[in-house]
Amino acid sequence: MTGTTVTPRGAKVPPGGYIDDVINQVKAKNPAEPEFHQAVQEVLDSLRLVLKRHPEYQSARLLERIVEPERVIMFRVPWFDDQGNMQVNRGYRIEMNSAIGPYKGGLRFHPSVNLGILKFLAFEQVFKNSLTTLMMGGGKGGSDFDPKGKSDNEVMRFCQSFMSELCRHIGPDTDVPAGDIGVGGREVGFLFGQYKRLRNEFTGVLTGKGLNWGGSLIRPEATGYGCVYFAAEMLKTRKDSLDGKRCLVSGSGNVSQYTVQKLLDLGAKPITLSDSGGGIFDPDGIDREKLAWVMELKNTRRGRIREYAEHFKSASFMPSDAGLDHNPLWSIKADCAFPSATQNEINEKDAANLIKNGIKVVAEGANMPSTADATKMFLDAGILYGPAKAANAGGVATSGLEMAQNSMRLSWTREEVDKRLQGIMSSIHNTCFETAETYGTPGNLVNGANIGGFLKVANAMLDQGLV
Ligand code: NDP
Repeated sequence: MTGTTVTPRGAKVPPGGYIDDVINQVKAKNPAEPEFHQAVQEVLDSLRLVLKRHPEYQSARLLERIVEPERVIMFRVPWFDDQGNMQVNRGYRIEMNSAIGPYKGGLRFHPSVNLGILKFLAFEQVFKNSLTTLMMGGGKGGSDFDPKGKSDNEVMRFCQSFMSELCRHIGPDTDVPAGDIGVGGREVGFLFGQYKRLRNEFTGVLTGKGLNWGGSLIRPEATGYGCVYFAAEMLKTRKDSLDGKRCLVSGSGNVSQYTVQKLLDLGAKPITLSDSGGGIFDPDGIDREKLAWVMELKNTRRGRIREYAEHFKSASFMPSDAGLDHNPLWSIKADCAFPSATQNEINEKDAANLIKNGIKVVAEGANMPSTADATKMFLDAGILYGPAKAANAGGVATSGLEMAQNSMRLSWTREEVDKRLQGIMSSIHNTCFETAETYGTPGNLVNGANIGGFLKVANAMLDQGLV
């Protein structure tokens, strides 16, 4: 085997050429979608190692198919604000890949949402869901609607209008959305209520539901807990643990809050949080009492993290500064970093600061929080780097457990779900670790996650014919 293969059109192309061709086609066919290009480039770069051994994926044009969503739905979402004015937003659902199960992935409500961002998230979701070992395809959706500053009634009217269209496209065996940025328990409740009214059926069509109407224990905690479990697994390979580690956490939403909680459970010391207005640094540590205060601030009062530094005198506030080429949060000396806010929040300057200060672990709670350059720097520096599609897969894995409980119409205990979550995170880590070794890049969990996630989906697509 020389590594050269023959395409269906008869051209002889070395594997590197084929992958570069696909990446170039993606860029040409999907202009102005830089986050989608970034996500595709990262996965396809890892697959160079696979294509050398498995030319059958190339002859089946697997890569051209896997980068193309099975379906993209875009729709108008009209709603009335509290002043009686008509408002219009845009809604989306990307049904990316259903080779190994119904589409599964969150809904994001944030003004930055656009087609390219949702396509990157849906693409990542395909490989992440595959890694969980559960039967879930990949999807993602959302809207450019901003829930910040809206009343509960406005959020409800928006969610009802959004679901009036989305309900035609989803279903418990077709596509099962969940929360993401800007979509928490409140929004899932409004969306589920409207689906039930329109379809006259009570099914597990959404995950992240309330506990007394089909939700799973530990689902709200799962992404943050899972990310910390993943970090602990990485440290174990170096005979180390989280005990006593100083940890930087960004964001202050769902993922960040439960990351902090699990870090405290495991004896670590979280010292930062942030939101889009800036970050707080508390050298004394964010203890349980302070975390409870943050949860009340963010989940009930819906306030800003700046208020933390006004309330707790041990803390200082670092306002966001668009003119700065780095985020001061990542220049604080620490052992571990848990970026848990949004994509590309760690650039190469931030990565350099983290590495200079001796960071040992980066575990990604957010999706694609490190730029391509930052990722490369972490890998080159040999630190324990847990890429998002592996480290934050605990959320969707527990959504999978919620679907299983809904199908059986029963509820597992907190301990049962948490045990399964820990088992899944450990298995994801093993898959990534072992796949990285098998493909000749030991310790590179980026390759491990991309290849491990790809193989199951790709083989299912080969089995299913021209899909
Ligand atoms: P939340 O809406 O609960 O919290 C998001 C946090 O990130 C808020 O503190 C928000 O600040 C901050 N943030 C969002 N956008 C920006 C931005 N552009 N710049 C700076 N800060 C920002 O969302 P989640 O905690 O659910 O999600 C956080 C990340 O985790 C996302 O990348 C999401 O895709 C990922 N994720 C979430 C999962 C889940 O189960 N929820 C599962 C897997 C991944 P502000 O309030 O000021 O906007």
